[in-house]
Amino acid sequence: MAYFKDLKRYEYSKNLFKCAGEPLNIGWLERCAPYPNGVVAPELTKKLLALCKFPVNRYRGWHGCHFCKEYPVRITDSDGEFCLGDGEIRVAAKDENFTYVAPNLIYHYVIAHQYLPPDVFLDALRALSLPNPAVVWILEWIEAFQNQPAILSDLLDRTLRLDKPSLPPELRGAVVEAANELKVGESPGSDARETTESIVNRLKSELTKPK
Ligand SMILES: [Zn+2]
Repeated sequence: MAYFKDLKRYEYSKNLFKCAGEPLNIGWLERCAPYPNGVVAPELTKKLLALCKFPVNRYRGWHGCHFCKEYPVRITDSDGEFCLGDGEIRVAAKDENFTYVAPNLIYHYVIAHQYLPPDVFLDALRALSLPNPAVVWILEWIEAFQNQPAILSDLLDRTLRLDKPSLPPELRGAVVEAANELKVGESPGSDARETTESIVNRLKSELTKPK
C-alpha cells in the first residue's frame, strides 16, 4: 500500500465515489513513516469493522500489511472470515466539507498496530450512521456502469444472490425489477419504453429514500 500523510488530499485513485467536499487521506500507513499510537474506543472499532468488511473502490487482489507482513490480512467476526486490503472506506466529515478516505486495512492498523487516527476522523466516525453495504455497492456500480445496462443488470443479479452483504428485504423488489427491466431494454427488437436512464434513476431514488 502506498504511504500518504493523514489529512492531506486523497490521491491514490481517481474514484471519488461518495466523496462530498474534499477527499482527505486517513490511515495510508507505511513502515518508513512513524504514526500516532493509541487506543480507539470499542464502539468506534466496531463501526470501522462494519465499513472495512465491505469496502468501495475495490482493487484486484489484496495489499498486505507492511508491518507484520500478513498477506492477505484476515479478520473473523460473527459473520465469518473476511480479508482486508482490497478497497477503501469513506467517512463524511461532520460539516460535509470533507470526506475521509482510508484503505480498509485501517481496521487492522488500529487493532494490531495501535494506529490512532486523527480526532476529526474519529468524531466523524462517531457521528456516522452506518449505511447498508449492499446498497452502497449498488450505488457505486450505478455510478460506474449507468450507461452499460447489461453489466449493471448482471451486477444487480449478483447482489441479489449474495448472503453478505445482504440487501434489506424491503429493497429487494426494486432491485429485481430494475435488473429485469435493464435486461428487457437490452434484448434486440425490444419495444421497452423506458430508457436505461429512467430505470436507473428510479432505482437510485428507491435506494436513497430516507427510511
Ligand atoms: Zn499488520
